[in-house]
Amino acid sequence: MITIALSKGRIFEETLPLLAAAGITPLEDPESSRKLILPTDRDDVRLIIVRASDVPTYVQYGAADIGVAGKDVLNEHGGEGLYQPLDLNIAKCRLMVAVRNGFDYASAVKQGARLRVATKYVNAAREHFASKGVHVDLIKLYGSMELAPLVGLSDAIVDLVSSGGTLKANDLKAVEHIVDISSRLVVNQASLKLKRGTLQPMLDAFALAVNK
Ligand code: ATP
Ligand code: MG
Repeated sequence: MITIALSKGRIFEETLPLLAAAGITPLEDPESSRKLILPTDRDDVRLIIVRASDVPTYVQYGAADIGVAGKDVLNEHGGEGLYQPLDLNIAKCRLMVAVRNGFDYASAVKQGARLRVATKYVNAAREHFASKGVHVDLIKLYGSMELAPLVGLSDAIVDLVSSGGTLKANDLKAVEHIVDISSRLVVNQASLKLKRGTLQPMLDAFALAVNK
């Protein structure tokens, strides 16, 4: 049995065509089903539906053989025990620093002020500001980062941006681009050795579909 860990929403939706390319079709839709283990049209393949940030953990411990996770999530997890053979080029966005429209970020940085930064992505934020020599106090949040500067919790946020619509709706502006984000295939290293006969053709089909 091959177990594939996916999160609901964009990752599931954007992974569907890749699964199809490998001859795998889920038999239920995670948006309407309450099941967390979804059968597919292949007896030897099942999907498990987990939080986006939990995908690397399931694969790391071998509870799933493979999974799909954003680079943002992988960077925070650390990637320990994971083989990452393929960038799937899906769920694309950018990790950015954003502040309130009235806030003079450039001056604050130039003056060496200690910035308060709220984010879910503390590892990426720490690395980014350390590499620029900017002193920051990081405040860990689990969502809705856009709110933090509006109510005085922080001066800045580090968050994922795609269209910029959410920033705009909350009177925020992006001031720095940290890194481009997309999702990767993650593979349990032991699974790859033990189940190579089944897994390798699947990985090859994904790679072919991505590069098409
Ligand atoms: P949860 O909803 O469980 O808190 P999440 O918000 O990280 O987790 P999703 O919104 O499904 O879950 O995001 C999954 C992945 O998709 C993220 O890890 C990131 O790599 C990518 N992503 C997040 N936001 C966007 C976006 N606006 N556009 C494109 N890709 C995105
Ligand atoms: Mg989200």
